[in-house]
Amino acid sequence: MAIDFSLSPEQEDLQKLARDFVRKEFSAEVVRHHDATGEFPRAVLEKAFELGLMNVHIPQEVGGLGLGSVAGTLISEEVAAGCTGIGTAMEASQLAQAPVIIGGDDDQKRRFLAPMLEKLSFAAYGVTEPGAGSDVQGIKTTAKKVGDDYVINGSKMWITNAGVADWYFVLAYTDKSAGVRGMSGFLVPRSTPGITVGKKEWNMGQRASDTRGLTFEEVVVPKRNRLGAEGEGWKIAMAAFDHTRPMVAAAAVGLARSAMEHAIAYARERTAFGQPIAMQEGIAFLIADMAKDVEAARQLVRLAAWTIDQGRRNTKFAAYAKAFAADTAMRVATDAVQVFGGNGFNAEYPVEKLMRDAKIFQIYEGTSQIQRVIIAKEIFSRS
Ligand SMILES: Cc1cc2nc3c(=O)[nH]c(=O)nc-3n(C[C@H](O)[C@H](O)[C@H](O)COP(=O)(O)OP(=O)(O)OC[C@H]3O[C@@H](n4cnc5c(N)ncnc54)[C@H](O)[C@@H]3O)c2cc1C
Repeated sequence: MAIDFSLSPEQEDLQKLARDFVRKEFSAEVVRHHDATGEFPRAVLEKAFELGLMNVHIPQEVGGLGLGSVAGTLISEEVAAGCTGIGTAMEASQLAQAPVIIGGDDDQKRRFLAPMLEKLSFAAYGVTEPGAGSDVQGIKTTAKKVGDDYVINGSKMWITNAGVADWYFVLAYTDKSAGVRGMSGFLVPRSTPGITVGKKEWNMGQRASDTRGLTFEEVVVPKRNRLGAEGEGWKIAMAAFDHTRPMVAAAAVGLARSAMEHAIAYARERTAFGQPIAMQEGIAFLIADMAKDVEAARQLVRLAAWTIDQGRRNTKFAAYAKAFAADTAMRVATDAVQVFGGNGFNAEYPVEKLMRDAKIFQIYEGTSQIQRVIIAKEIFSRS
């Protein structure tokens, strides 16, 4: 009896806690308000924080729960089923925390992670730049060693939580000539002089989430804020994705599940040609495809999360899960709009927002193309 697909009682409790939280706090009005205004959902996140649904991966050694990836994916799916804009605002700090958990020393964990358990606060992961996203090696930000400090210059783009974060994980070149082995990661408090936070971007979807550019001009950070050794930044920044991609994929599953549930309810109720449209094979098959793909995506998420929780390398499974779940979310949301017909195209109905929100899953944390690049590399270079 080696394979067991069931959740443990603790995992079921955590899933229920997240589900009940979403039922209570993510009313249609709240979700619509944050989508329409782009207002950061601080009040909702205060409640998530009080319930212990945020920062769940902060290690026990600094007072956190130290929960694993499977636990994170359970929360992520439930929250995303309510609203992925609020979900991204709630979970983006984890992408900044992951490099500290992976590559930080005790002092860095104590200074940057422990305070996040005391009060609601945020962190942001700053890798992408105006000229380089998928091609991380193309970043231009530099960190020059001056005495016991580093001086950072450069710009970051599309940084989730940039406007609300207390600190940033920043990837910069300490030695351009060494390629990816010349990159180092830094923990930069937002209060450091020389940082300019850009305007909030008005995006197609997930508008509750705060996305901005960041500029660093002669920003001085002490050596003790460098993660790992000089030249280890790229490795640490990429390793973070093995932990966070299963969670992002779980959020895509949550969105797809929500779109499917709306489509099923509508197909039962809407009549055409004298019967519910669910009785038309063309509609029923669309929904059958949604159901099988949502479940397949969920199982890939669990495999990727479980593998890393066992302390095993999961890069390939994390890429499978991210690519499959993101593409599934986009397809299911698009098909849900189709099931709703003209109503689906209208903002009064929920699936219009879901289709807008779904698109970003194929772009952030590595595009769907980049996931395939990773998978192909795993197939052709590692076997
Ligand atoms: C809302 C939002 C939030 C984000 N949050 C963060 C964040 O918190 N921190 C952060 O650092 N970044 C963040 N990003 C950036 C995101 O990770 C990048 O947008 C993404 O990695 C793609 O990079 P790019 O936009 O530069 O596109 P490009 O890299 O310019 O890609 C353009 C197109 O070319 C394709 N392409 C590129 N290279 C290849 C290849 N080798 N093979 C096949 N196709 C390829 C891509 O898939 C894409 O379709 C965010 C972006 C958005 C929009």
